[in-house]
Amino acid sequence: MSFKGKASSLISNMREKKKERAANIANSMSSNAVKEVSPEFDYVEKRDRVEVPNLATAEEETESKFADGPAEKNNQLSLWENTKGPACAGSRKDSVQGLSRNSLVMYQARSHVAASIELPQIGSQGISSWGFDVLDMSAEQCEAYVYHLFDQFGLIDEFELDKNVVIDFVGAILGKYREVDYHDYLHATQVVHQTGWLLLRTQSANDYIVLGLLLAALCHDVDHPGNNNGFEIQADTELARIYAYDSVLERHHCATALRVLHNDKLNVLKTLGRDDSFKVKSVLVHAILSTDMNEHSVLMGRLEELTPEVFDDIEEQSHNTQLTKCLIAAIIHTADLSTNAMDLGVAKRWGNKCLEEFKCQGEKEKEKGLVVTSFMENLVEDKDRCKIQFGFVKFVCKPWFLTMSKFEMFELDEPLANLNAVIGYYDEGQ
Ligand SMILES: [Zn+2]
Repeated sequence: MSFKGKASSLISNMREKKKERAANIANSMSSNAVKEVSPEFDYVEKRDRVEVPNLATAEEETESKFADGPAEKNNQLSLWENTKGPACAGSRKDSVQGLSRNSLVMYQARSHVAASIELPQIGSQGISSWGFDVLDMSAEQCEAYVYHLFDQFGLIDEFELDKNVVIDFVGAILGKYREVDYHDYLHATQVVHQTGWLLLRTQSANDYIVLGLLLAALCHDVDHPGNNNGFEIQADTELARIYAYDSVLERHHCATALRVLHNDKLNVLKTLGRDDSFKVKSVLVHAILSTDMNEHSVLMGRLEELTPEVFDDIEEQSHNTQLTKCLIAAIIHTADLSTNAMDLGVAKRWGNKCLEEFKCQGEKEKEKGLVVTSFMENLVEDKDRCKIQFGFVKFVCKPWFLTMSKFEMFELDEPLANLNAVIGYYDEGQ
């Protein structure tokens, strides 16, 4: 065999092994870690929630801290100075496989009364299922599920995170999601799930990236007011002025997350040390800022230029900051767009939630005498609602998932098939 032939057979063997490893993790997550235990698992009831500083009054103070904070390029604080991480696929796999009945005992570690939180679908689906549907889960179930994922990814052991602080942090962040129609704690939980699902297929990402991305998914829309950046800017709100009309809400979500992390009782990263903590925060900030829809086309253009194998071993390419950032942005943005790529019934419910939020924004714009955003008015008739959804799913979501599908490791056949069904449904209804 020629050298070229040997090399290509070696590469194809490596790819096979990588696929096998991903399948093992997915299986161990659904079988070892989940099926062996009851669909109900013990989770600690938080009777003494930790107080979090008032957001409204702390916004400007946070802004100044934020400006000097994690994105600093000095002192080698940023992940981007050196993305090489201590742990990746191997250790993650071991920690996931090591999970069993015993791991669930950890949830009772606190001295409070333990409550049994029922997670109806986790026994058969959980992280291994793209279609895991959170829509009927309670806030407590969402908290338990998010904590469960941090645990399943081995992050609590790997970084020696304080379990009680993780539980309190998850509760504090989900508790800061407002009661709006779409961007609520359910959306946050769904995006955490989908981010985890994608990370399972990104075996070479180190644990800083995994932890940063899961935290980012949890926090990415925290304290969302139920309107978009366009509204904030048009209404010249205080937030818009604080963030200089640039990614206003995404910067607000980042600042809120960083403020919660700044509270000693809620700082999940406390055990990491200063430098490692900033590495994780760098991922978190970059990921959340990447959820701004204004970044969508730019990011898609970058992905289109990449070769299909480029993310297969991201740890090997850790010197390539831009590539690492691109992967982080691609994962969270895919997760954020995932609600339209679920089973038709689930996608329809998410679609309705989104349209209700649009309707509210349209009404707020009318009340304030602002220009009403074109797709946020006349959302009463079914055919008008279908038309808006059809346009978004067909011309934004589908092309995005198609672009992402060239990176075979993500295995996006199911979401793409769902998107086709969803497009067909809205097309018929418009
Ligand atoms: Zn979102």
